[in-house]
Order: sequence, then C-alpha cells, then structure tokens
Amino acid sequence: MYNLSDANVIRRLLTDAGFSFKKSLGQNFLIDPSVCPEMAMSAAEQENDFALEIGPGVGVLTAELAKEFDKVVTVELDERLRPVLAKTLKDADNVEVVWGDAMKLPLADIIKQKSTSGTASVCANLPYYITSPIIMMLLESNLPIRDITVMVQKEAAERICAEVGTRAAGVLTVSVGYYAEPEILFEVPRTSFMPSPDVDSAVIKLKIRKEPPVNVANEKQFFSFVKAAFGQRRKTLQNSLSSLGGYAKTDIAEALEKADLRPDVRAEALNFDQLATLFNALYKIKAERNGK
Ligand code: SAM
Repeated sequence: MYNLSDANVIRRLLTDAGFSFKKSLGQNFLIDPSVCPEMAMSAAEQENDFALEIGPGVGVLTAELAKEFDKVVTVELDERLRPVLAKTLKDADNVEVVWGDAMKLPLADIIKQKSTSGTASVCANLPYYITSPIIMMLLESNLPIRDITVMVQKEAAERICAEVGTRAAGVLTVSVGYYAEPEILFEVPRTSFMPSPDVDSAVIKLKIRKEPPVNVANEKQFFSFVKAAFGQRRKTLQNSLSSLGGYAKTDIAEALEKADLRPDVRAEALNFDQLATLFNALYKIKAERNGK
C-alpha cells in the first residue's frame, strides 16, 4: 500500500515512471491526507454503487472512492500515468481505468455498461483548464448522474454557488443552477497540492435536479439569452441584450415592460424567475412577429 498523500512517495513513484508535471493538463496532485477521504465520503452520501472519476493522477482520490463505492471507473488522459496507476491501484479490484479524454469519451455508454443501477456519482479533482467545460458537458449531455462532487478553483466555486439575483452571480451560476442545486462543501488551500497552484480551491457538490427551477420556452435560446445578458455585466439589459441576434431595441424594451422590470435593470439584479419571465416575453414577441 502506498501513502498517496505523502509528497515523497508521489515524487518517487513519478520519478520511477519518468513523469514530469504538465501544467497544460492541470496536473496539481493532492498531498493533503484529509481531503480525499472527505471528498469520497461526501460523494457516497446518498448512494454508493458507482462512481465516475475524471483525472485520477496517481490515484489518491481513486483509492478513497474504491473504499466507498462498489465500483469506480476513472478516466485519465495522460498515458504517462499508466505505470504509476498500475502500481498504486494494483489491489483495488473494483477500479477500472479508462484512458482517454473525458470531454470526448462516450460517458453515457460507460455508465450504462459498468454501473449496476445505470446511474453514477461523479467525483473529481478537476483539471482547472477545463473546469467549466467539463461541468457543463456533464450537466448538458443528459447523463444518468445523481450528483457531482468536484474540486474547483475557489473563485469558480463561489461563482457557481452564488445566488442568482446577486452581484456574485454570472452565466455559470445560472447555467449550473438550471440543472443542479450547488453547494460549497469545504475549502482547500493551495498548499494541499503538488505543485502548489497560484489559487486556493474548494470542493462543491451539485445535486442534479429532477426538474429545472423555471420553465423556459426554448432551452437553447434561453442559454444564449443568459450569455448575452451577463456578457457585459456593467451594461443594462437593454444594452447587453442587443448583442442577441433577432431582437430590435423596441422588442427588448417591450419585453422588460411585460416582465415588470425597470428599463435600466442589469442582469445581476434578476432572480431565476425574473430571467425566465423576461426571456419568455422576448421569445413570444419574436414568435408573434414571425407569425408562429
Ligand atoms: N485526482 C488527482 C489528485 O487529486 O491528485 C489528480 C488531479 S489533477 C488536478 C487533474 C488530472 O486530470 C490529471 O491527472 C490530468 O492528467 C487529468 N486530465 C487532464 N485533462 C483531462 C481530460 N481531458 N480527461 C481526463 N483526464 C484529464
């Protein structure tokens, strides 16, 4: 058994494999012994049949997930970690490593084939260079997942978990909040990693919603609307929404009025219901003009 949160053990394993850290792959490995057991336990809180991990590194979180879940599949892009994981996960009979890019692999098929219940909990210390794309891919691709417990940069955690309708909210708050109920579980200082990154981190849990919190006339167009609305945060909605194709300034003014909103309101002041009401009003104006 290797002590995978001991920096010297990790260094020796990596040196033996001729491995050097790649910043471009977000390779900051955890060396704080308290973090992975807590993450794995939080991930297994509700059900513990199947965990999907993204980016095992040397397998420090993987080994903890293997204790909490019946089966773990972990997806790693960097094949240079093959000899390392072969050693560190040698005795973990319930772990399978899948080599490839988590953004490209057919994760729905993997879950369907490997999970007895057909559903999964996702748990990962995410590579920071693709935090938002991975989270949005997991949420948008309609995967059979119950929850996502992930380590992200502290700023991203705060943004994702902000309340919609406050200054801290942004596109990511609304996009994630549409699919899941987010919560910050605990913070992790930069010194808990090797090499140490320039920022602190936090572990968040996203519980997938059964139903979205609001009804919108067209999901795809709602997300384009949200992107435009928060795209230029300092601008009023009247101005920021003009970057959205297909709407005249008068349409936006009319929709703001129909949604009972002041003409100079900014996106960050709107709660989820108000954003949906405004979008639905805009959508209706366009549909009526096009005779639909
Ligand atoms: N889980 C380990 C830990 O906590 O120490 C490593 C976490 S490290 C922040 C991110 C891991 O994700 C690295 O092992 C990296 O090689 C891997 N990775 C980066 N991009 C990936 C991708 N697109 N698909 C799968 N794994 C990826």
